[in-house]
Amino acid sequence: ALTTGIVGLPNVGKSTLFNAITQAGAESANYPFCTIDPNVGIVEVPDPRLTKLTELVQPKKTVPTAFEFTDIAGIVEGASKGEGLGNKFLSHIRQVDAISHVVRCFEDENITHVSGSVNPIRDIEVINLELILADLDSVEKRISRVEKLAKSKDKEAIAELEVLVLLREAFENEKPARSVELNDEQKKIVQGMHLLTMKPVLYVANVNEDGLLVADDNPLVQKVREFAAGENSEVIVVCAKIEEEISELEGEEKAMFLEELGIQESGLDQLIRAAYSLLGLSTYFTAGVQEVRAWTIRKGTKAPQAAGVIHTDFERGFIRAEVVAYDDLVEAGSHAQAKEKGKVRLEGKEYVVADGDVIHFRFNV
Ligand code: GDP
Repeated sequence: ALTTGIVGLPNVGKSTLFNAITQAGAESANYPFCTIDPNVGIVEVPDPRLTKLTELVQPKKTVPTAFEFTDIAGIVEGASKGEGLGNKFLSHIRQVDAISHVVRCFEDENITHVSGSVNPIRDIEVINLELILADLDSVEKRISRVEKLAKSKDKEAIAELEVLVLLREAFENEKPARSVELNDEQKKIVQGMHLLTMKPVLYVANVNEDGLLVADDNPLVQKVREFAAGENSEVIVVCAKIEEEISELEGEEKAMFLEELGIQESGLDQLIRAAYSLLGLSTYFTAGVQEVRAWTIRKGTKAPQAAGVIHTDFERGFIRAEVVAYDDLVEAGSHAQAKEKGKVRLEGKEYVVADGDVIHFRFNV
């Protein structure tokens, strides 16, 4: 399963946020494909479309889709040199598909900052630099191997060397790989390198209890936003402490608490949705009287593989997909009426599933 790793310096609020994630936690029985591990938190993806479909279909059960956050502890300065838990930290990051980087934007005299003062940009740079140095190391090793081949006029080697040199230059200027402009061919070459700084990043600005509504006036948050914009990354503002409290509530109670706080959606729900989209994931639905359910696929997945997310038999015996777009179904008011209006399509093996498709699969067993 795809996963987002939560990273950050000590004392920035990672554990508090991760607690909120596991407490809000999805029932793992519903999600047998998810990892069972104390460092992995399974979250349900909030989706108002699922509520609407439930109203339309009145099923016995509604199941949201879910994905994983992994708590990655142990970043320290010097990680790239194998200091502390350094190597372990880097190998954990290698395994995740995207990074949620928690930064401290709250002042609190009682909570020590590892570097003595609250400065989110310096914090971000400490961690990013460790990842950049690790990548620089991989790229230099690769260059020494590819250089010889490039000299003997090997075309692929020449193309790869060009990319490697661009990356090395970025790393030497302390810039991540994701900030380097590459054409499609070069992107493909880089994909195979599994660089740490190529992974998409979401910065999570952790503010104080009373700072949530006025986050945009918080100069620390503003700095994080500027920094993130410079590398095309997104920023989510949360108060980890409040999220921990919210995560103990459900339904009506949760809605009331959010209203009291004056916010529409919890920071955690925003984080979940942002991370989902950062991972390049999209959602399709199945909507029967037994169960209305959301399923996760990577963008660009074709119908048989999308069916395979439900069950491998669905993929193996795939015949056809009966598809109606969410908006069309809601507009028609029922599946039967959507069919009458000609909004239900029969799609074959090559069909690329779109976000929001409501699908009924036909398959041989
Ligand atoms: P970690 O080392 O990054 O996992 O940080 P923790 O989650 O353990 O948090 C460090 C300390 O900061 C704990 O005492 C938390 O209660 C506190 N903390 C976390 N988030 C907030 C916050 O939003 N506001 C305040 N005032 N304290 C927080």
